Amino acid sequence: MSIEPFKNYIDNYSAEKPLVISGPCSAESQEQVLETARQIKKHTNTSVFRSGIWKPRSRPGTFEGIGELGLKWLQEVKSETGLMTAVEVANPEHINLALKYGIDILWIGARTTSNPFSMQEIAQSLMGVDVPIFIKNPINPDMSLWLGAFERILNTGNKKVVAVHRGFYPYEETKLRNIPKWEIPIEIKRIYKELPMVCDPSHIAGNTQYIEDICQKALDLNFDGLMIETHINPKNALSDAQQQVTPQMLKEILGNLVVRTAGDYADDLQQYREQIDSIDQQLLEMLAQRMDVIKKIGDYKKDRNVSILQLRRWENIIASRTILGEKAGLNASFIKDILQLIHKESIKEQNRVMNQTKD
Ligand code: PEP
Ligand code: MN
Repeated sequence: MSIEPFKNYIDNYSAEKPLVISGPCSAESQEQVLETARQIKKHTNTSVFRSGIWKPRSRPGTFEGIGELGLKWLQEVKSETGLMTAVEVANPEHINLALKYGIDILWIGARTTSNPFSMQEIAQSLMGVDVPIFIKNPINPDMSLWLGAFERILNTGNKKVVAVHRGFYPYEETKLRNIPKWEIPIEIKRIYKELPMVCDPSHIAGNTQYIEDICQKALDLNFDGLMIETHINPKNALSDAQQQVTPQMLKEILGNLVVRTAGDYADDLQQYREQIDSIDQQLLEMLAQRMDVIKKIGDYKKDRNVSILQLRRWENIIASRTILGEKAGLNASFIKDILQLIHKESIKEQNRVMNQTKD
């Protein structure tokens, strides 16, 4: 299967630098869109101006996008700044309108990738249309949904598909809005080596303070581009206010990034190691979460004068986890060893809580 590289369709593309896509989460007013684009053009090497026109919001009654009117503003952005333009589409009507207004790139949002019915409908309306399609990962870490979305578009004969990694809904609250699970985009890239991979650090971070680190990580993993939400006045943004940077901040972030040469990254061993690093990070975060709950149990036991070691509970843990682990293909004695280590540390922690003097 051949997938076209950026140089075939992105204006003035330079393979030495990541492709930069920036622009507001949502188009809100003509002034906001045009002024953001002007400043982005002036301060950064952005190639593509993004803007949401139809916004998928979890709850009704919030800002659901400006609609068709915003497409006119994007036409103005293109004619005034020369930037290419991109919008999110979720159904055939969006696609028809976006194409009517000459939008250069369409992207599929995380909620849409999650739904094979929508993806099939979108693919059907894209038959014979040669516009680049950027596909965000689905909300849940389900790799086949993401692969299925690429395949549905590739099956229409369109070879300009791109993956956009925007993280996955977290199993528990984390400092990031969406967990990166880098092992998933790495594995996708291992399967489809030519598929360009763009990172969207804004939706992974949920907050501007983490954006630079996530961008750097993506570049270190040899990603091909970055999509960064940028707004002239983020504080007053109608959607995703906390994660949008100003064009000035974007300039600083991009200026601080170190672009390394690809080196031996294409090496499978290196890619497997990156996957291990990402999984270990999640393991450690989950262990820390478990320890936090252990501390709460320690407090509870202290308040009620319950003994720390509850033998029956401990036996149940060993038995049930051994079954779970074996189902997952792990060796029973390995599971027991790990649980014993964790249990020992938990008892130590609860002893520490018990021995704290009450004030
Ligand atoms: C967006 O890009 O503004 C957006 C809605 O993203 P996602 O589909 O990744 O949530
Ligand atoms: Mn957004």
